[in-house]
Order: sequence, then C-alpha cells, then structure tokens
Amino acid sequence: MTAVAETPARDLYVGGAWRPAAAGATFAVHDPATGAQIAAVADAEPADGLAALDAAVAAGPAWAATPARERADLLRAWFDALVAQADELAELITLEMGKPLAEARGEIAYAADFVRWFAEEAVRIDGTAALAADGCAELTTLREPVGPCLLVTPWNFPLAMIARKLAPALAAGCTAVVKPAHQTPLTALATVRMLVELGLPPGVVNVVPSTRAPGLVGALLRDPRLRKLSFTGSTAVGRALLAQAAPNVLRVSMELGGNAPFVVLEDADVEAAVEGALVAKLRNNGEACTAANRFLVAEAVEPRFSARLAERMGDLRIGAGADPETQLGPLIERRAVERVDELVRDAVAAGAEVLTGGAPLDLAPGTFYPPTVLRGAAPSARIWREEIFAPVAPVRAVASDAEAIALANDSEVGLAGYVYGGDLRRALRVARALEVGMVAVNRGVVSNAHAPFGGVKHSGLGREGGREGIDEYLETKFLAVAR
Ligand code: NAD
Repeated sequence: MTAVAETPARDLYVGGAWRPAAAGATFAVHDPATGAQIAAVADAEPADGLAALDAAVAAGPAWAATPARERADLLRAWFDALVAQADELAELITLEMGKPLAEARGEIAYAADFVRWFAEEAVRIDGTAALAADGCAELTTLREPVGPCLLVTPWNFPLAMIARKLAPALAAGCTAVVKPAHQTPLTALATVRMLVELGLPPGVVNVVPSTRAPGLVGALLRDPRLRKLSFTGSTAVGRALLAQAAPNVLRVSMELGGNAPFVVLEDADVEAAVEGALVAKLRNNGEACTAANRFLVAEAVEPRFSARLAERMGDLRIGAGADPETQLGPLIERRAVERVDELVRDAVAAGAEVLTGGAPLDLAPGTFYPPTVLRGAAPSARIWREEIFAPVAPVRAVASDAEAIALANDSEVGLAGYVYGGDLRRALRVARALEVGMVAVNRGVVSNAHAPFGGVKHSGLGREGGREGIDEYLETKFLAVAR
C-alpha cells in the first residue's frame, strides 16, 4: 500500500480518477511552523464541484444497493488502515495543520473510533412493522440513504471532521462530495487515496479542494440533485449556508462554533480541575470548537486555580509540531495570531491581568502565540464573547453557582461545557443547567464516538456520532399495505 505521507495525490479525486482542476489552477499549502510551501494542490472551481456531484449521483444507486455488510467491511478496513498507518498520517496532519505529533496521533485515534463505530452501525439500520392503530393497514417503515451529500470541513481536525461525516454517510449508503478546508487539503486527499486502495468504488467519494469555497459550494447547493449538506465550521458561514440550502429544502447538519464555559465549583479538587483545564484549553493548540473559552471559578478557589494554571501553562514547550518534544505548536496562520493578539489587548484594556504569556512570540515566519492566562476579564470584553481558538484562558471569579450558570449561558452559542465539583449531585445540577449540547463533568474531554456530538443555539443542528449520527444520512419512508 502507498505510504500516506508520500501520497503524490495533489489532484482532485472525481469519479474514480485523479485529475487537475478544469482550469488547471493550483494553490499553495503551507507548513504553519515554518511558513514554507509544502504542496501545490489542484484548485477546484464550480465546474469541478458539479463534475464531482455528477459522479456522486451516478454512483448513488449501486452504493445504496450494496449490502450493508459490504459497506461495513470497507469502513472496518478503513479503521484498520488508519491504525496501521497512524504514524505516517500524523506526520502529514502535523505538516499542514501544525499540531504536535502526539495530538495528530490523538486525532487519528479519535477519527478511527468514529469509523469503527459506523462500521458497526451500518449493519444495524432497520425499520419497523406494525398493524395500524385503526386496523386498516400494515405499516412498514424503511430507512433509506438520503442521497448525494456535500461534506464541507474545517482545517482544525483535517481527518476527524471528514471521518465523522463520511463514515456515517458511507454506512447509510450515501455517496459524497468532500470539500476540505484549503489550509489542509492533503489529509483529505490521503484519506480518499486510502479508501481507494481499500476498494472504494468510483464516484462514491469525490474530493474537491478549493480556494473558491463560496462559488463551488454555492453551485452545488443550487443543484437539485444534491440532497444533503453537512457542514463543520464557523457559525457565520454556517448561517449563510443554511440560507443557501433553503431553496432546495436540503437536509442539513451544522457543527458550528463554540464558546465553552469551564466551571469550577468551590468544592472541586483544584489540582484535578487544573489538569482538566489544560486538556480542555490546549487540546489542538486551543483550536478546537469544544475548547474551554471562559473559566468561571468559585471565588474561594479562584486565586489558587489561576496561579496554578498560569504556572502549568507557562511551562509548556512551544515549537514545531514535528519536534517530538513540542507540547504546543503554531496557530494555523498569521491572521489567527493577529486576531488573538487583538482579543488579548482588548481584554487587558478592559481590566484583565496577564498571569503568563500575553503577546505573540517573535518566531516569524512561524505563527506562534504563547499559552496565556488572563485574570478578571470583563464579560463585555470580546475575548469573553468570541471563540478564541488559541491557547488563551480568561478566568473570572464567581460568587455562586447561580452566577456561574448565568454567565455560562450568556452566549449566543452552546456547544460544549465543563464542570468540576466535589459533590457530584451539585456538579450535575450545574451541568444540567448549562445551555449546551455536551457537558464534561470532572473531565477535560467531552467527545466520544459512542455519544452524540453537537450543539444548541447558534452552535448548530444535528448530531455526529452515537446512535444519532447515522440518522443524519437516512430518510424514513413508510409503506401502508392493505389488509
Ligand atoms: P470556516 O467557517 O471559515 O470554514 C469551514 C469550511 O467552510 C472550509 O472548508 C471553508 O473553505 C468553507 N467555507 C468558508 N467560507 C465559505 C462560504 N462562504 N461558503 C461556503 N463554504 C465556505 O471555519 P474554519 O476557520 O475552517 O474552522 C474553524 C471553525 O470551525 C470554528 O468556528 C470552530 O468552532 C468550528 N468547528 C466546529 C466544530 C463542531 O463540531 N461544532 C468542529 C471543528 C470546528
């Protein structure tokens, strides 16, 4: 099997063939640790996206009719390949996205878990049979694939965000066009290459990297043959795509931005809370939708929590993700560093105290921002209201559980939340009161392939993973049979 890191695939993958973009254009992919160009990738335009949809439509009936066991076997083989090739794939993820190698391996394990889960779910798609309540018919429900899907994914988890969509789509019998983020197309291309080598039939998955996302995605959303959009990315883009999906009444799944509260109650084990905070804040360089964004800490323990968090974050080793000693890599691009710098300055101007970090690291052309702890950030500051997407932790003391809940819920988004507390019943009371889709209690990680991932409010629609994950790719039909 071709080594994934050496994959020569820089072309689009459409209809079972590797080919350049229709207009021959390419775009550069960069290593965020060095700024160096690492690849030139075919830059799909709307015509390429439509060709990919042609292929997905043509392949649809045969894939839907493929026995579930065969679809499951392909997914299981994908899981095995991800495990076997994790080291090479991790190098590729680190190269184009910047996260430390250990994090990249973690992402692969996480993605593989979803792939295995949906391999198992593929053979459990079933319906019901009932005698109608009025006795006039026998009712059978069937679950059928939605049809051709467009999967649009972000750069922060270049493999996992594809796996969380593509695995249930394939399991359900859907075909797909994948539009990865232009910052991280190489992992997407390596992924489809892996699937092709495992026997993926032509047209079932098509990959169209592009720097012209609005035009390409827009053209697909206007095409009535597309039946489903699954998007992971920012709330602003998700909102715009929801509007574009309306004319064709598309099925949609939206995994959008977060602003996770991390609540530490006064009876929490502060050391354990700091350990959890490090994971919840720094996983993926802080560039995770589930990242703890606002630390709300009971005033009795806040000084100790803040001091200890600053000590631990200040000790981390920053560098290129490819260096095995590195604990924190670069941010994805220069704009991200500039943005977090603005957020921190704004918070400081509004009264926050910097306990560690606080200014960009001068490691140009690498795009590094140091772990930063801010104490006393005002809830009106931008850092409190916007998704930080960087290793910056604003901490605020709260006088009561009620104040923590009120501040936590004072956000238009609601993806993840975290609660640390000694008395589990009290911690669960707070967890239940949070307006979010997922809460971790006395843990720094919330997501699990066995559980439904997703948000409420402006964090999205639908769920990925768990028993619910495959429903996003299935329609229910019923047959009424005369008795
Ligand atoms: P983004 O919204 O800028 O881009 C996401 C994807 O949409 C990319 O493929 C991009 O090319 C495409 N895109 C951008 N503008 C578009 C447009 N106008 N029309 C069509 N497509 C367009 O997000 P990003 O910066 O790549 O990722 C970070 C965001 O993703 C954060 O807000 C983060 O919270 C969110 N995210 C959410 C989850 C989740 O599961 N809820 C997971 C990971 C990331």
